Amino acid sequence: MKTTLRTDITVKDICDGFVYNELEGKGLYGLSGTLTIQPEYQRNYIYADGKKDVAVIDSVLRNYPLGLIYFNKLKDGRLEVLDGQQRITSLGRYVTGKFAIKDANGMPQYFGALATDLQERILNTKLLIYECEGEESEIKEWFRTINIAGIPLNAQELRNAVYSGPFVTLCKAEFSNSQNANVQKWSAYIAGAVNRQDYLERALEWVSGGKVESYMSNHRFDNNINEVKAYFNSVIDWASGVFPEVENEMRGLEWGRLYEKYHHQAYNPKEIWKKVKELYADSYVKNRKGIFEYVLGGCVDTKLLEIRLFDDATKKSVYAKQTNEAKEKGVSNCPYCAIGNDNNRTKIWVLKDMDADHVTAWSKGGTTDISNCQMLCKSHNRAKGNK
Ligand SMILES: [Zn+2]
Repeated sequence: MKTTLRTDITVKDICDGFVYNELEGKGLYGLSGTLTIQPEYQRNYIYADGKKDVAVIDSVLRNYPLGLIYFNKLKDGRLEVLDGQQRITSLGRYVTGKFAIKDANGMPQYFGALATDLQERILNTKLLIYECEGEESEIKEWFRTINIAGIPLNAQELRNAVYSGPFVTLCKAEFSNSQNANVQKWSAYIAGAVNRQDYLERALEWVSGGKVESYMSNHRFDNNINEVKAYFNSVIDWASGVFPEVENEMRGLEWGRLYEKYHHQAYNPKEIWKKVKELYADSYVKNRKGIFEYVLGGCVDTKLLEIRLFDDATKKSVYAKQTNEAKEKGVSNCPYCAIGNDNNRTKIWVLKDMDADHVTAWSKGGTTDISNCQMLCKSHNRAKGNK
């Protein structure tokens, strides 16, 4: 790979012909059209938060260095931004009046309203740019390893870079596009940010059974994403069909896995939701995220709910009562040991070798209070829990 350091390019040059696409969330072109700011393998613009974008302009106004920028020089002489796209897009968006910075009094200042000397200072700022020339594979491999833009690329952004092509382009138009009207609906089930590729990552994870990279590699040059879309929609449609309403805890569940495991079973959505509401109202349920799989699995696996346990005071008090009574009768303080035939029949267990047990199981309406607590030796408690 050949690199050339350029120090002659100014913000004004870069912003000449700057185009920003709101729909895709991308800075597109600069340098009079010869620079592609966001090639396919670049992530979306994520600095538009009123902080990172403003910080770029503040840095320039204070003559702070903006850091190195890398361009990839293509065989036809055109340039692509390899690293620095967020900074360049911030400059372009500011100069074209897309956002404001704040002046010393906290008043918003758009570029057009800045004093002329400050405008000039921005436009005449020279950038430090490395132009790199090399084979695509070489450049991409290197791109994988650079991390100088402040926010490291996440796993899916890296995959989009490595497997760039028509398939990724179509995927991003569908799953990384915050203007897509479906995003609102999807966000009930999917956690994370559209522009950080979290939705796309889920879609690919689901369709590939978790083998995202090999799936992207196999489909890299496909001209459609029908399979990804169909599978994704099946999962979402199934989830919204089985659970007719939405709760916060549904967001970010492993819907792909749940779909695979449960979608062949028939459910009555009305009854399902009644059960969900009941469990939401149950103060013994600690893990609300577990409610959905618990219900899908027929309300059997209470481990999913992390039912509230007895507290230490309750355990100690029940232990003391049980042990006193057992000693008087000359039997074990574990009621199950006491009715057995082996050596443990008269064994007095110490507190740390016993566990608290619900006399009436929580799933059968038993409460987690002292009236429903008994202490069992660990092996009997385990044996009872497994029934
Ligand atoms: Zn026992």
